[in-house]
Amino acid sequence: MDISICNVTKKFGDFKALDNISLEIKDGELFALLGPSGSGKTTLLRIIAGLEFPDSGNILFHGRDATKSPLRERQVGFVFQHFALFRHMTIFENVAFGLRVKPRGVRPSKKEIRDRVMSLLSLVQLDQFSDRYPSQLSGGQRQRVALARALAVEPKVMLLDEPFGSLDARVRAELRKWLRRLHDDLHITSVFVTHDQEEALEVADRVAVTNNGKVEQIGTPYEIYNNPVTPFVYEFIGNVNLFVGRVSQGVAFMGDVRLQVPELAHAVDSPATAYVRPHDLQLSHDKRGEISLMANVVSIRDVGPVARIEIKYPGNNKIYEAHIPTERLAELNIKVGDNVFVSARRVKVFLNDGTGQGNLDMPLGE
Ligand code: ATP
Repeated sequence: MDISICNVTKKFGDFKALDNISLEIKDGELFALLGPSGSGKTTLLRIIAGLEFPDSGNILFHGRDATKSPLRERQVGFVFQHFALFRHMTIFENVAFGLRVKPRGVRPSKKEIRDRVMSLLSLVQLDQFSDRYPSQLSGGQRQRVALARALAVEPKVMLLDEPFGSLDARVRAELRKWLRRLHDDLHITSVFVTHDQEEALEVADRVAVTNNGKVEQIGTPYEIYNNPVTPFVYEFIGNVNLFVGRVSQGVAFMGDVRLQVPELAHAVDSPATAYVRPHDLQLSHDKRGEISLMANVVSIRDVGPVARIEIKYPGNNKIYEAHIPTERLAELNIKVGDNVFVSARRVKVFLNDGTGQGNLDMPLGE
C-alpha cells in the first residue's frame, strides 16, 4: 500500500505542528520519520492513522483520498512506545483481541483465530509464552506482543511510534534488527517514528528528517548521512565539525584555509560554515596538499575499530574530532600533546543565509 501525503498542514491553536508537508511512502517500504522532540513526527503518524485530521492537505492510500476516513477504515496497525497491552489478559488473548471484536459477519472462527494468533506468536518468537500475562514478560517481549497484536488484523500499513523508545540500548538494537527482518518477511508498508538517528539509519529504506513541522530532507540512509542538504540535517545526523568563515566569488575563507567552491560564485563576502564529518578528517605526520593544517592532539579514545581523536588548531579554542581506524592510529604512533597535520577529504560549505551550498571532494591519498 503506497501512501501520499500532499501539502498537509496541522495547527494546534496558533501553533503550526505540521507546515505544508508532502511525501510519498512506497508500497512495501520501511519508512522512518526522524526528528527532534516536537518536530511533528507523531502528529504526522496520527494523521496517517486517521487518529487526527489535517487542517489542509490530503492523505492518499494507493491513490484513494483517505483524508477524512477514520482509523477503522484505513486498515492500519498501530504500535506505541508504551506497551499498551491489556494487563488482565494473557498474551494469547491480547493478540486475539482485534479479531474477537470484529463484527460477527467478518469475524474469523474460533479455530481460525487460534491458528492466526499462534502463528503470529511464533513469528515474534513468543509462542511458548501464550498463557503468560504481560507482567510476566520483559519489556522487549511485551513490545513484540504489541507488534503481533497490531499484525493480527492483517493491516496493509503498520505504524510504529517510537516502538522501542522505553527499552534499554541492547534490547533496542536487537529489536530493530528483528523489526527489519519481520518487515521483509511480511511485505507490508511500515512507517515508524523515532528521534534516534542510528535506529532510523540502520533500519529504514528511506528516512524523512523533520524539523519544526517541516521536512528537511527525504532520502535513503546513505543519502541522508553522506549528503545532507541542510545544516540542520548535518548536525542532527551523526557527528560533524563546523568551521566558520566567509565566501566570496567562489572561494571560501575558513581561518587559514582557502577552498574553491565554484557553486558559490554568486556569494560576495557572505558568512558561511563548512561541515566536515570526523571520519573525513585525515591525520598524517607530513603536510598533505594545500589544506593540510597543523593541529595539536588533545585526547585519544581508541576503544573498538575506530579511534576518536580530539584536536585543536593553534589560535582556535574549539575542539574538533577526527575518527581514524585504530590500525592507522597505531601506524602513526600519535600521542596526546603531539602535533599532526590534519586534512579534510570531504567538505560541504553552506552560506549562513541559506542561499547556497557547495561540495568539495578532495582525494588526498595516503
Ligand atoms: P516527540 O518526539 O517528543 O514525541 P514529535 O516530533 O512526535 O515529538 P508531536 O507530538 O508531533 O512531535 O508534536 C509536535 C508539536 O505539536 C509539539 O510542539 C506539541 O507540543 C504540539 N502538539 C501535539 N499534539 C498537540 C495537541 N493535541 N494539542 C496541542 N499541541 C499539540
